[in-house]
Amino acid sequence: MTKEHISTKVLIIGSGPAGYTAAIYAARANLEPVLVTGMEQGGQLTITTDVENYPGFAEAVQGPWLMEQMYEQAKHVGTKMITDMISEVNFESRPFTAKGQSGKTYEAETVIICTGAKARWLGIDTEQKFRGFGVSACATCDGFFYRGKEVAVIGGGNSAVEEALFLAQFASKVTLIHRRDSLRAEKIAQDRLFENPKINVIWNATVEEYLGNPPGSSEGEIGVTGLKLKDTQNGNISDFKVDGVFVAIGHDPATELFKGKIDMDKEGYILTASDSTATSIEGVFAAGDVKDKIYRQAVTAAGMGCMAALEADRYLASRNHAVKDAAE
Ligand code: NAP
Repeated sequence: MTKEHISTKVLIIGSGPAGYTAAIYAARANLEPVLVTGMEQGGQLTITTDVENYPGFAEAVQGPWLMEQMYEQAKHVGTKMITDMISEVNFESRPFTAKGQSGKTYEAETVIICTGAKARWLGIDTEQKFRGFGVSACATCDGFFYRGKEVAVIGGGNSAVEEALFLAQFASKVTLIHRRDSLRAEKIAQDRLFENPKINVIWNATVEEYLGNPPGSSEGEIGVTGLKLKDTQNGNISDFKVDGVFVAIGHDPATELFKGKIDMDKEGYILTASDSTATSIEGVFAAGDVKDKIYRQAVTAAGMGCMAALEADRYLASRNHAVKDAAE
């Protein structure tokens, strides 16, 4: 384990569109930022295929490619990139400090938090056992394995509908299972879903149990074989046969590391000042999905990353002025 100590004016934690954009702007302001990538370098877009709504590309581009370009751009303008996972932060004294799982320690005058969000799970007992064995939260990662098979998608938002449409390209049958009788997804996405002959919807149903043979079981082939569903209208329980299940019920912000250290709302999203990325700690900024539960788009995350870098620059400039004034 390395004991390296790294000092910087701007420490950026996270490597999605928010982090990379903050890095590009901070580097071009000569702030020599350090960006700690985390373990899933590139964030959520690396598990996406076609991206059609990021401006600048007339044709769809691939999510992983887009993130690679952002990485290279941030590096090219002078960002120091470090593959590490921050495991501890201290915002109580200045400069701020952080520790990485690698053993590296970081010291920073400002911190920009861009740790993003993670897929939410149903939280039922059998889920943990079957994750990776028929239960997934990423159709673009695992959909390919279900060529010619029957799959279910849980959820009723844009993600669930997108996943169902994506899976319909591989699977023989896709069933969207939603706990209510109407979808939350955009109308255009719903239209595509209802028009797709491979996709059915089961309304007013919740998943009570995953059925099948979990790893370690001695009976039959390992993996999910079905779901125990509960009808929310009449309470009836039924078994539904399926080869794979994709959970698409939203995301939670990746803010565990900052709990009790910075103000958050009850869902764990970091609170920032209005029209700003400034958090409750002066000199600490937050950008992207970690503070945004409304838009959650790559382009809005990138915009917030830009704001955070500009605000960090202004904060550092105002502190330097204050130090100079005090010395005169
Ligand atoms: P979401 O909009 O929050 O939808 C989550 C869905 O999961 C809802 O239908 C919800 O049901 C259901 N759900 C939540 N907890 C559940 C549970 N425990 N059991 C069963 N169902 C549960 O999340 P999302 O679809 O991930 O989208 C997040 C944001 O990203 C949204 O703003 C969305 O518009 C955006 N997004 C945009 C695009 C795009 O523009 N291409 C693509 C993906 C996502 P209820 O409806 O009953 O609450």
